[in-house]
Amino acid sequence: MHDTDVAIVGGGLAGSLAAAMLGRAGIDTTVIDPHPEYPAEFRCEKLDGDQVVLLKKTGLAEPVLRVSTPDRESWIARFGRLVDKRTGDQEGIFYGPLVNTIRAEIPAQVRFIHAKATTIASGAEHRSVALSTGEIVSARLLVLANGLSVSLRDQLGIKREVVSECHSISIGFDITPVGRRSFPFPALTYYADRTDDRTAYITLFPIGGTMRANLFVYRDMKDPWLQQLRAEPEQTVTALMPGLRRITGDFAVDGHIAVRPVDLYVTRNHVQPGLVLVGDAFSTSCPAAGTGARKVFVDVERLCNVYIPQWLATPGMDAGKIAAFYADPEKQACEAFCIDKAHGLKAFSTDPSLRWAARRWTRFLGHYGIGTLRRFGRRPLTAPTGGHALPAGAKP
Ligand SMILES: Cc1cc2nc3c(=O)[nH]c(=O)nc-3n(C[C@H](O)[C@H](O)[C@H](O)COP(=O)(O)OP(=O)(O)OC[C@H]3O[C@@H](n4cnc5c(N)ncnc54)[C@H](O)[C@@H]3O)c2cc1C
Repeated sequence: MHDTDVAIVGGGLAGSLAAAMLGRAGIDTTVIDPHPEYPAEFRCEKLDGDQVVLLKKTGLAEPVLRVSTPDRESWIARFGRLVDKRTGDQEGIFYGPLVNTIRAEIPAQVRFIHAKATTIASGAEHRSVALSTGEIVSARLLVLANGLSVSLRDQLGIKREVVSECHSISIGFDITPVGRRSFPFPALTYYADRTDDRTAYITLFPIGGTMRANLFVYRDMKDPWLQQLRAEPEQTVTALMPGLRRITGDFAVDGHIAVRPVDLYVTRNHVQPGLVLVGDAFSTSCPAAGTGARKVFVDVERLCNVYIPQWLATPGMDAGKIAAFYADPEKQACEAFCIDKAHGLKAFSTDPSLRWAARRWTRFLGHYGIGTLRRFGRRPLTAPTGGHALPAGAKP
């Protein structure tokens, strides 16, 4: 039996970040995760400028920025035309190295137990967690940061409500130029030309010496198009975005093509004594909208900088204390922003109605105008209006 003030179940982005922050604040913390090293997984592969600002608030940005790859300049294109070149603010980093870099910052006094949490029980003052190793951890506060996993939530009567099933599919692969040494751009975002292609955009960005591609589509997982993409990736991408090659030149898709669908869900019945949910464990966001890491950073920053120190300073861990975190205005604003951006981007990419066509054209012309001003050396003063949610790395 281990006694601790805070037990964190899950050492992904949210759990590792929380452990590093709490450990640095001198709070007695234990992390439980089966993987000694976070494995290679297709998840968030870049942070945009806003996310880096949020990460700075956690005090953990510096080690991440030491190993991530800045894009420096980002090109925006549509209909085979380059519409703008803006100063880049994205940092490319694979998810495994991102989490492992943050884990390396967890101070030595934080106990890291390599096990799976199997059962959670509540007592008068403490929550106890039974582990796959037979150990039991007893904590004043349990932080559930176990991502998409459902079993522990089910035990606690926490309900998952799917608000958009298979909202989008994320596709990730390495891409190399053919017939030349490098692509002409440091990073590129290319928007889909037609709404009936059910595609948001493709973004190409550097991670170390690799040019990585993330393509976001709105399709069914059984759609034969996905098989076609795996069988003939270059031809399928070119057929989807006929103008892309005009910007990239000939290209080859290298190695494994990762395909992951994402459901959007929220949780219900989560306000419980001694227990708080963060990151994907609380709600998912659409990868195309590039907001998952933002949500993790806001959740963990508010929880560790504001609420946990206050909660531990007084006896008990009742539901009233916990409710304050979920009602935090910054957290609520972030949740609303993420869901709005997820639905807005889907409509922006797939809705053929006049209203959304007008928004697409306004956005395109806005980008074009800004790009033209930039080319002639004049800094645009205002952003284009009339558009809706755009992906990370595609802000005017
Ligand atoms: C394909 C894809 C692309 C994405 N792209 C972007 C993007 O471009 N930009 C962006 O901002 N966001 C993106 N996201 C979202 C972002 O990656 C997630 O929101 C974020 O990684 C969630 O982190 P987390 O710590 O909540 O969950 P995870 O990183 O999943 O961590 C969960 C941890 O819990 C552990 N765990 C599970 N069950 C147990 C248990 N019983 N006991 C102990 N440990 C347990 C797991 O081992 C894991 O370490 C993307 C997501 C996907 C799927």
